[in-house]
Amino acid sequence: MTTAHNLGFPRIGAQRELKKAQEAYWRGDIDAEQLEQTGRELRARHWQLQADKGLALIPVGDFSFYDTLLDLTATLGVVPPRFGWEGGEVDLDTYFRMARGRAPSGTPAAACEMTKWFDTNYHYIVPELEVDQLFALSSSRLFEQVAEAQALGHTVKAVLPGPLTWLWLGKTRGDDFDKLDLLDALIGVYGEILQRLREQGVEWVQIDEPILALDLPQAWRNAFESTYTRLQTPGLKRLLATYFGPLQDNLDLACRLPVDGLHVDAVRAPQELAIVLDKLPTYKVLSVGIVDGRNIWRTDLDAALATLSPLKARLGERLWIAPSCSLLHVPVDLDGEDTLDAEIQSWLAFAVQKVEEITTLQQVLDQGEETVDEVLGVSRVAIASRRHSERTHNPAVREGVAAITDELTQRNSPYPQRSIEQRKAFNLPLYPTTTIGSFPQTPTIRRVRRDFKQGKLTENAYREQIQAEITEAIQRQETLGLDVLVHGEAERNDMVEYFGEQLAGFALTANGWVQSYGSRCVKPPVLFGDVSRPRPMTVDWATYAQSLSDKPVKGMLTGPVTILNWSFVRDDQPRAETCEQIALALRDEVNDLETAGIGIIQIDEAALREGLPLRKADWKHYLDWAVRAFRITASGVADVTQIHTHMCYSEFNDIIASIAEMDADVITIETSRSDMELLDVFEDFHYPNEIGPGVYDIHSPNVPEIEQIVSLMEKAARRIPAERLWINPDCGLKTRGWPEVERALENMVSAADTLRKAAAASAA
Ligand code: GLN
Ligand code: ZN
Repeated sequence: MTTAHNLGFPRIGAQRELKKAQEAYWRGDIDAEQLEQTGRELRARHWQLQADKGLALIPVGDFSFYDTLLDLTATLGVVPPRFGWEGGEVDLDTYFRMARGRAPSGTPAAACEMTKWFDTNYHYIVPELEVDQLFALSSSRLFEQVAEAQALGHTVKAVLPGPLTWLWLGKTRGDDFDKLDLLDALIGVYGEILQRLREQGVEWVQIDEPILALDLPQAWRNAFESTYTRLQTPGLKRLLATYFGPLQDNLDLACRLPVDGLHVDAVRAPQELAIVLDKLPTYKVLSVGIVDGRNIWRTDLDAALATLSPLKARLGERLWIAPSCSLLHVPVDLDGEDTLDAEIQSWLAFAVQKVEEITTLQQVLDQGEETVDEVLGVSRVAIASRRHSERTHNPAVREGVAAITDELTQRNSPYPQRSIEQRKAFNLPLYPTTTIGSFPQTPTIRRVRRDFKQGKLTENAYREQIQAEITEAIQRQETLGLDVLVHGEAERNDMVEYFGEQLAGFALTANGWVQSYGSRCVKPPVLFGDVSRPRPMTVDWATYAQSLSDKPVKGMLTGPVTILNWSFVRDDQPRAETCEQIALALRDEVNDLETAGIGIIQIDEAALREGLPLRKADWKHYLDWAVRAFRITASGVADVTQIHTHMCYSEFNDIIASIAEMDADVITIETSRSDMELLDVFEDFHYPNEIGPGVYDIHSPNVPEIEQIVSLMEKAARRIPAERLWINPDCGLKTRGWPEVERALENMVSAADTLRKAAAASAA
């Protein structure tokens, strides 16, 4: 028999039950026992579903009330002192305070840092490590869940993050030290976890070490050998799971570690299968991640079988099949969709359908096609339909992309010349003030959008109400005295979905939610075909807003790279090509905005950095096409039209040259949280254009003091000439309330005033 298994199932529930329960608990509407009950129900449902589909091993440990890496952190007893934990079991509220700073009980404290899990849009809570860090087994949740699953009659495969991945992702606090110094103590407790699982009668444990897909220093590679040698637990078999990319220089190591099986990502690294097969000792099982855990397309089962059949012939019982990675990164169930076009829907597979694909493949391998010929038939029709559909191919779009020349990626003149034109046209003061685009999304705004979507508001009524919001936003900005205004984005639910809804080539799901962090879920659009723009998308709102003010109002777009990175993207052509299509469509929008009299246009690239490949060797290629796509979007306008872009993260010292190459006239960035540390990069790198280093953190409700803003800007002015500096918050304001926004912006405008007076005085 071939073993069909799964690396992890989404925990949110098909109706986002987990989100609702988490938030109800945090609000105090339900108690801990009710939350636990929801957890038990979701786990039981998901285990049963996977068992019913025919998986031989059911993953346990993939459930979490916030984040599975944090679960391991708690199990290891690594709780920073500020949470006041005194040992013993890490209770639910201590756990939530680590994740989000507060919980129904206990004193609030600064939450642990959160960051993206490899190249996904899932965020984990960063472990904080001290030089003399203690470890002690401090949570029995995993063991309880194992017992729960066993009681329900399932054959359990326990799942947990590997010790080296956990340690690699941790951050040192206080004195800097080599994290590997902690390995010995860590392995001690990790070994206890494995021992406990063994005592519970678990046969297999899946240990996730995705860092094997990264460039690792030699010391870390050595650590793998010693760690896995020490972690042998007689009677317990260990499957080492790698995913998200090829193993490359870590391939030998991964094959030779003293474990009982290796899982490889055959979607991202099919080329390595043959080599792994040669190197893997004959006592190990090979788990082949053949179904894409990162995207929502149906698997071409015939192609998968062509890969698997020779493996089966060689490995026999030692062949396991699985998704490439945990199914956490795809929505739960396609059956929940009722609004998708039927043909497009037939091309998709969410988590439930992917589990089914795994078991179908297993049945064909073990029993031949006859037993599942109906399922195979449906799958073949869908694959053929997608391959040949007219809807994925638009000849006009293809011609447009083929006709892209370097000229299309160039503004007419270089920045210094453009800037002369722009200064004449806009006549802005020194240190111009602006905001990033969105203003508070009030309950009224949300209701207006919802009512319109549900057909309760006519198009006219909807337009009038959004226009009223725009009018109010413009008035408030005029009163505050900001220099460059925005319309406020009241019509946008999400900066990518808004464009996905209007561009051809995208489909929107009704319920395709994926966990982003904690209780937050996102619903990425599905980019299935050639992208084009049937009609202008933002021009009416922008011109309406501009008609209300003599000051410039920025046109506001999401850039091609961000739209690409935050969507589920077609896998039948290179991403770079798809990105060019989006860029061409957006270029038309930029040009139309210009024609309609919008003099300043912002093209957000919030997700440019997170698209960086995991391996440094692949960065250049990505940055080249990403920057090119942005330039295609931005370069169709006259010199006098000012192009802004925005990025909200502080770590881009390593890609600053590419950011400069985007050649936006103005870039607004995040810096406030790192106290303008970012600006250190400008010591060595002379950013050539204008820049607005975010002067306060919009994630916090705190109102920044005038002096604080002045001093941050003075710091900035030591690196970048004042003539090229802007003053703005570090991201959009949609999650904030108006009272704090007004006070913050008032202080920002006062700070600009102070700085201008100081500049005038020193000039005189
Ligand atoms: N213009 C967007 C806004 O202000 C940008 C959001 C973002 O960078 N994430 O909301
Ligand atoms: Zn931002």
